[in-house]
Amino acid sequence: MNKEKAIARASILLPHIIREFGTSKHDDRIPLIRTKRDKCDVGEYNFLKCRITIHHNQVKSKKELIKTVLHEYKHYLQCPYRFQNHLNRGSDYWTHPMEVAARAFEKKYWKNFKNLI
Ligand SMILES: [Zn+2]
Repeated sequence: MNKEKAIARASILLPHIIREFGTSKHDDRIPLIRTKRDKCDVGEYNFLKCRITIHHNQVKSKKELIKTVLHEYKHYLQCPYRFQNHLNRGSDYWTHPMEVAARAFEKKYWKNFKNLI
């Protein structure tokens, strides 16, 4: 997906996602969204910057974009200290319970947002 479409669509989605799931108990801020190119992943969340990054060149469809924004938003809702603790104890992307939760979240809810973009 090109950069302009990805940022435009993600910007439409975000207020709806906030309305549906509320803001984080762990952060007073609302996440910023940016796009950038990446070699492998579709997105990332930076707890310190409270920022969702969409790797637009890796996102192949609207469905994948919605799932990516939801996945990263779920990380925004999660506790950053717990997240880091699991990493310190050796969790990886597939075993980390908060990654498992984020994947379940995107899968469960993406269809709720598919008619918005
Ligand atoms: Zn994740």
